[in-house]
Amino acid sequence: MAMSLTTEARMIKGVGPQRAQLLAERGISTLGDLLGYLPFRYEDRIHFSKVKDIQPNGTYTIRARVMSGQAIRTMRFRRDAIYHLLVQDEAGGLLPCKFFHGGYLEGRLKPGQLLILHGKVEIDRLRPARLEMINPQIELLNSDEIDSTEVGRIVPIYEAIGTFSSKQIRRAMYAAVQLIDPRMPDVLPESLRRRLGYPSRGEALIHTHFPEPTESLDAMNTFRSPAQQRLIFEEFFLYQLSLGLDRRATRKENAIAFRVREDRIREALKRILPFKPTEAQKRVLAEIVADLEKPAPMNRLLQGDVGSGKTIIALQAAVIAIENGTQTALMAPTEILAVQHFLSARRILGKAGYRVELLISGLKGAEKQAALERIKSGQAQLVIGTHALIEENVKFARLGFVAIDEQHRFGVMQRKRLMDKAASHGHAPHVLVLTATPIPRTLSLTLYGDLDVSVLDELPPGRTPIVTRVTTEPHLPGVWEALRREVAAGHQGYIVYPVIEESKLELKAAIDEYENLSKEVFPKLKLGLLHGRLSSEEKDEVMQRFHRNEAQILVTTTVVEVGVDVPNATVMVIEHAERFGLAQLHQLRGRIGRGAQKSHCILVAPFRMTDEARARLDTMVCTSNGFDIAEADLLLRGPGEFFGTRQSGELGFHIANPIRDKELLELARQEAFALVEGGAQREELQRVLRMLPGEWQRRYHLAKVG
Ligand code: ADP
Ligand code: MG
Repeated sequence: MAMSLTTEARMIKGVGPQRAQLLAERGISTLGDLLGYLPFRYEDRIHFSKVKDIQPNGTYTIRARVMSGQAIRTMRFRRDAIYHLLVQDEAGGLLPCKFFHGGYLEGRLKPGQLLILHGKVEIDRLRPARLEMINPQIELLNSDEIDSTEVGRIVPIYEAIGTFSSKQIRRAMYAAVQLIDPRMPDVLPESLRRRLGYPSRGEALIHTHFPEPTESLDAMNTFRSPAQQRLIFEEFFLYQLSLGLDRRATRKENAIAFRVREDRIREALKRILPFKPTEAQKRVLAEIVADLEKPAPMNRLLQGDVGSGKTIIALQAAVIAIENGTQTALMAPTEILAVQHFLSARRILGKAGYRVELLISGLKGAEKQAALERIKSGQAQLVIGTHALIEENVKFARLGFVAIDEQHRFGVMQRKRLMDKAASHGHAPHVLVLTATPIPRTLSLTLYGDLDVSVLDELPPGRTPIVTRVTTEPHLPGVWEALRREVAAGHQGYIVYPVIEESKLELKAAIDEYENLSKEVFPKLKLGLLHGRLSSEEKDEVMQRFHRNEAQILVTTTVVEVGVDVPNATVMVIEHAERFGLAQLHQLRGRIGRGAQKSHCILVAPFRMTDEARARLDTMVCTSNGFDIAEADLLLRGPGEFFGTRQSGELGFHIANPIRDKELLELARQEAFALVEGGAQREELQRVLRMLPGEWQRRYHLAKVG
């Protein structure tokens, strides 16, 4: 059968309808999409390590047979069964392995089964003479068949997609790669490709999925092979192309120059302030005002640690925009945050007679229609919402200012789509982006284009530092007692869980624990349960109750991670804290310590955890400054992981990593900007644009290129 990059994924050998469904949920629907799902790691399965050669703290790949296996549950590890596995390699070396949270392996591994294990070797703490492998990744091998995708080569390891395992994905990918035409269309201009010495797109894909046996394993695992470098460069190149085109377009664009130096407006700005601004807030507002007074669109990033008071600045800028006869749109990443902004904006601005509107996807038919009407007629002056704001049917009468909260949660495309809502009135909006994620200035310039940066480097006065400590599950009764005391003193608290419902990972889940906590632990208190699967109304109601102190304890998942602001909450307990990343823990902890009272953050973690997890929790105990935490994060995880897949993915990158691949990013920027600016290359630019993915094509339709 003839295959092309647009052939449906389910037609590929080893995929089929069920797995195609799993892939579809990840946005993979065609052969081309599937080929874009790249390995995150490679294993040398030409040379396996021997058990007799392993050393403590080394990471090894071993081929061995199962001798015995057993799951053990203890009181302490009530939920966390430990699975003990003993394997033997061909040379007769015996290796014990331990899987924490390993209950799911029970009954799955039979004696004699051939396995490949990959993991770190440590000294057994109870028997120091013995080495053991901790939480290895395992792959079952079928009988003794020598399979070309499994052994005898550098093997690509994919992140499993639901029940579609890494190994199954590898087989399907092997089939998919056979369908690649090495001369497939290449978005990189031929001359550029030759000048930089990159392989063609087809070759690069083939070798990234299935490297030549002569390729260096180290190069593959650090993403430095020519094939990977080319794919990374390509992602940056297309991204920078869009920034370059934007820059060219905005140079020609006008914004409305707002008038600020009028008594009326100065008065309005003062009137809405519920507190005395910090010096940093005053300075940043002045920087913003200077931008808003110019007829060129403001494009400014406001960086400030959690709790530094970014919101009020956005609201002040909104007042300026409204007083100048335009509308403001404020976009937040979650409904909870949008609703909270809406309520506080209505409280602060409503008093002064401004009309504030909420737009979230939870709104029902007639209600939503009415809101859309008010936005279109200009009656709504400040519109606060989620990504519901960027839907096609949202039309503004005269959008003059756009504020985007917690930018790291949004893709660049979403920001642009919101900006486009103003374009239909013949001018560009002023844009302010708020973020608590500190990224180096050079990097933000490269990623977000010509952004100016303002920094809020001062916390509002009267904050007492948060005391953070780490404890283990057996000490929970004492933790609950401390929480009871806080509540008795009139305060509130959060208890955070990593998952919503019981899963095979055997992690504590918010729903179950909520039951248990309400009935057994805090029968006299009012608890609220908040998680991402509640409807908008339910979430709203829970948050309202918590805001009004009608619930004293909020049992929740990471949905409270960003922005939630209840200053009366003084305790946060995070269970399975070892499961969270540093940035996430810092954001979570930012929910407390917002008032004058002393706050406590208690991180609950198991006795045994990886060194890295322990270092993460120690950092949380010692550090409260977001910039320091980001730096520690960078050190602990290495630059490769700092911009985790989440951030990178949201920028539309599959393989490129802006920190790890800084040099390629710079190079791509130069080359892309040269292509945009170079008059002689117009045809080449047109060709590249025609090949862009759909979303980009729509945006940079050829008319704009002329
Ligand atoms: P973030 O920068 O994390 O978005 P917020 O804007 O939510 O921070 O502000 C955190 C808390 O501090 C809010 O309760 C806000 O009302 C309060 N706040 C902000 N600025 C000041 C100030 N100058 N004085 C007192 N409280 C302030
Ligand atoms: Mg905020």
